[in-house]
Amino acid sequence: MKITGDQQLIKKMNKRIVLDTIRKQQPLSRADISSAIGLNKATVSSLVSELIESQLVTEIGPGESSGGRKPTLLLFNRSAGHAIGVDIRVNDLLMILVDLEGNVIQEKTVPLTDCSPENVLNQMRKHITLLGKKAPASPYGIVGMGIGVPGLVDEENKVVSSPNLGWNNISLYDSLSTLFGDNIHIDNEANAGAIGEKLFGAGQDSANLIYLSIGVGIGSGIIVKGELYRGTSNFSGEVGHMTIAEDGPLCRCGNRGCWETLASEKALLDRAAVLWEDSRPNLEEIIIQAKTGHETAIALLEELGSHLGVGLANLINILNPELIVIGSRLSLAGDMLQDAMLRTVESRSLSYHRKKTNVTFAALGIRSTALGAASMPITSFLADPDVTVASSSSL
Ligand SMILES: [Zn+2]
Repeated sequence: MKITGDQQLIKKMNKRIVLDTIRKQQPLSRADISSAIGLNKATVSSLVSELIESQLVTEIGPGESSGGRKPTLLLFNRSAGHAIGVDIRVNDLLMILVDLEGNVIQEKTVPLTDCSPENVLNQMRKHITLLGKKAPASPYGIVGMGIGVPGLVDEENKVVSSPNLGWNNISLYDSLSTLFGDNIHIDNEANAGAIGEKLFGAGQDSANLIYLSIGVGIGSGIIVKGELYRGTSNFSGEVGHMTIAEDGPLCRCGNRGCWETLASEKALLDRAAVLWEDSRPNLEEIIIQAKTGHETAIALLEELGSHLGVGLANLINILNPELIVIGSRLSLAGDMLQDAMLRTVESRSLSYHRKKTNVTFAALGIRSTALGAASMPITSFLADPDVTVASSSSL
């Protein structure tokens, strides 16, 4: 019998649904899958056989019987391949190697003294290759990689602008795909962080959430009904340039009083450099001083918490999110600025809007972006379970 294009497409879609069901509800039997998705048992069995053959699914011992023969249970083979996630930050590169369920197998932080695209690419090529070599043997090898960049990334994977790195129109994809294959995803670091927290962290149960990445600047990834909101040009979420003080400090974007001139890590450090006079403490030092009772440090973090709260109140009023997750560097100071931040949110947001909104700090710490980035090639790989991976042999 000749299989038509439509039938092939339907089969592929059904196979994907079966695989998704196993991933989300494992361990479960073929009969469980059949009743969960409404496909008949023969079709499910045939698709499961193909998934077992391709080593994406494995069988484990029998489960509980509801009378009759005990069914064999199925598991997603999370070690069938691995992916790499990269978070390009101003001072360093964070790179992780994960299995297909996002469990971190290896991690490497490389300091960046030179942010030029050439140096960052060289460091990435070198350390991605090293990470790839540390991956346990698996049927599919390295299935791809995802990269979070602090800047604007267009639909074609191109970094249009990254003021903090000093980059304009840089095509990381072209430079990396010749070495590592084409399953490479490049995205804004806050978008990647939002996906990371949604899939693996604080946002797993929230359909509508905002992830705030607060470091040198402030960026956000906005998830609406489980999907990232990208805007018309893929540039959504630049909440750091929301004006919160009409005549406030001059921002690098040319505007005055942007949120990030008052509530980012850079804003905190600039202010500390003035107050401390004799030294330029970093974020970690300010946190330690605040915890040991240093009054200026405590006041500084409270002031920052209050500035954060002003922007949060705006976001809550406009988007009515279920959850706001604060990630990246400033999450390190979470417990020191939380009270002032929540007090400001309470006094400035509309009561009906904030009623169901929770504000929390990233569950994945500083790994939100790297994990979200690593999940992107995995999602593409699993969307087409018949995919053959060209990049695995090159690592
Ligand atoms: Zn600005």
